Amino acid sequence: MAHVERHQWDVVIIGAGGAGLRAAIEARERGLRTAVICKSLFGKAHTVMAEGGIAASMGNVNDGDNWQVHFRDTMRGGKFLNQWRMAELHAREAPDRVWELETWGALFDRTKDGRISQRNFGGHEYPRLAHVGDRTGLELIRTLQQKVVSLQQEDFKESGDYEARIKVFQECTVTRILKEDGDGGDGTGAVSGAFCYERESGRFFVLEAPAVVLATGGIGKSFKVTSNSWEYTGDGHALALLAGASLINMEFVQFHPTGMVWPPSVKGILVTESVRGDGGVLRNSEGKRFMFDYVPDVFKEKYAESEQEADGWYEDPDANRRPPELLPRDEVARAINAEVKAGRGSPHGGVFLDVSTRMPAETIKRRLPSMHHQFRELADVDITAEPMEVGPTCHYVMGGVDVDSDTAAARGVPGLFAAGEVAGGMHGSNRLGGNSLSDLLVFGRRAGLHAAEYARACADGRPAVGAEQVDAAAAEALRPFGEADAPAAAGAPESPAGERRPAENPYAVHQELQQSMNELVGIIRREEEMSEALERLGDLRERAGHATVEGHRQFNPGWHLALDLRNMLLVSECVARAALNRTESRGGHTRDDYPEMDREWRRANLVCTLKAAAEGRGERAERISLRRREMPPIRKDLLELFEKEELIKYLTDEELTSE
Ligand code: FAD
Repeated sequence: MAHVERHQWDVVIIGAGGAGLRAAIEARERGLRTAVICKSLFGKAHTVMAEGGIAASMGNVNDGDNWQVHFRDTMRGGKFLNQWRMAELHAREAPDRVWELETWGALFDRTKDGRISQRNFGGHEYPRLAHVGDRTGLELIRTLQQKVVSLQQEDFKESGDYEARIKVFQECTVTRILKEDGDGGDGTGAVSGAFCYERESGRFFVLEAPAVVLATGGIGKSFKVTSNSWEYTGDGHALALLAGASLINMEFVQFHPTGMVWPPSVKGILVTESVRGDGGVLRNSEGKRFMFDYVPDVFKEKYAESEQEADGWYEDPDANRRPPELLPRDEVARAINAEVKAGRGSPHGGVFLDVSTRMPAETIKRRLPSMHHQFRELADVDITAEPMEVGPTCHYVMGGVDVDSDTAAARGVPGLFAAGEVAGGMHGSNRLGGNSLSDLLVFGRRAGLHAAEYARACADGRPAVGAEQVDAAAAEALRPFGEADAPAAAGAPESPAGERRPAENPYAVHQELQQSMNELVGIIRREEEMSEALERLGDLRERAGHATVEGHRQFNPGWHLALDLRNMLLVSECVARAALNRTESRGGHTRDDYPEMDREWRRANLVCTLKAAAEGRGERAERISLRRREMPPIRKDLLELFEKEELIKYLTDEELTSE
């Protein structure tokens, strides 16, 4: 096998979004040599797309806000399935992370008295989202990037080398987490590095390090209609599984209620929740503001019963209840789905979202500049004069790597950490808008801190990267060219039985995967459909094993997709298997055949792991094992933040009586 370059670092961060950069800054500030690696250009991670804002209970606009209220809202939004310790840390630490960003140069919009402005969002009791117009993610990444550059300048002054202690490997992809020799296949060996390829040249290299942080974002590209970008192929989720870690809560996929539905080329692109937070309303084809018909019992006390009360809330939130358009996302998405199904949808299969009759054109352009631009450029719609057409779009995955709440360490794999969208647990069954950006900073920092401590403790005995593992990773990456197992011709790989199989086009396999996930494991789920999805996934796995590409290794998108297919298929199997198993509806998981939330499921996490024997087969067989695990009871002082009547809706009798 050809020589593969190796680089030594203390901490490797996979991903340069909000979570990855915050982790990198922390590890570097603790004095560790830190490498960041990302698929796209530095500064172009998915986080830049975040529009609405970052949730933190600073209480700048309503001083009734504090971490306890934020914790309560987050638990309610997640339907009490959140890892409560993560929700607690998140609510407590988010304000510090926002203020810290400001000291690093972030320019948030201001209140009249000069404080960081905060806006309303679904499920948040008070105006809580710090924002920069509707381009908050861009400012967040710009600030973190600037901080990384300033650390590099410090290093240059000290050592004459900008990249002495923090280096970004951009447009590079990790395909395997490497583990120390002697792992013995039982999944318990410690992490020793990552196997990577450079997208431009196709060159392989290894980053050796005792601590690796996954910060790779989400999985949306497994679904046909999605707000997610090309990078969201579930790589970190799959890398974790392949390294022996577990995923939890994979059945919970958030369908944002408002994606564009027209024209087809832009279907799924996000219409930020700020549109509703700032006063936008949803109407059906009869002009009815239908959300009043869809307020579930658990939320009835908190939401307005009439248009007059809902509109009054924007001016006087103490005397009125919130508009039902600001219910958590899962509720709004289901309501839109029901209206369209009942034949009351808009001409292109969505509903109407209107700001044009709610505020002056100048205010719309000032508060929602990206939305104004997006609709004018992409749909030829002027949102200051006419309503938008919107419908649900796959947006966020609540499920992810099973981590320790305090340290972000992946359970069961020493040296592996995960933060941001790739980590599971924080958001329970449904994430509140704005809670991702704060999650990235709170747990990105914690992951960087604990990865640094772990790496420091390994200083005298770093786990080794064995040549065999590197060779195996290279062979796996080359398989789509037919180089690894050398089929007779590029177009004719052989099946295990020896007969020739047609070469598969990775784009065709991807398209069918997206179609299947959207249709069969989408917003409303049924047992027969999910069983069919699992059948189809079996076929697609087999076909993906024969996906073949032509050309060379220099910037070859077909090859990159062929490699990403492994990840999307693994993750999709987790989603479908967990969704089929959970016989209730909760948050981002809605079963037509089990429409109610079941208190007995409240404490259950479904844990996905890779079947030991499945590694490397790439065939039709199931690859994921699923087991049910009980969550630890919620700490007493946190439970006391809720009224007893509310807890009765969520907790089991046993939990209520054991208080
Ligand atoms: P990302 O920012 O996606 O970064 C992932 C990184 O991992 C990238 O650098 C990528 O290149 C890299 N990567 C992935 N795989 C590999 C690999 N195999 N090898 C190397 N690198 C890899 N949340 C909010 O809180 N507020 C909002 O207003 C908001 N608005 C949103 C608007 C849109 C349109 C969307 C889609 C999401 C929005 N979200 C919002 C959600 C939020 O933006 C994301 O959840 C969050 O940005 C994810 O950040 P991350 O750091 O986990 O990952």
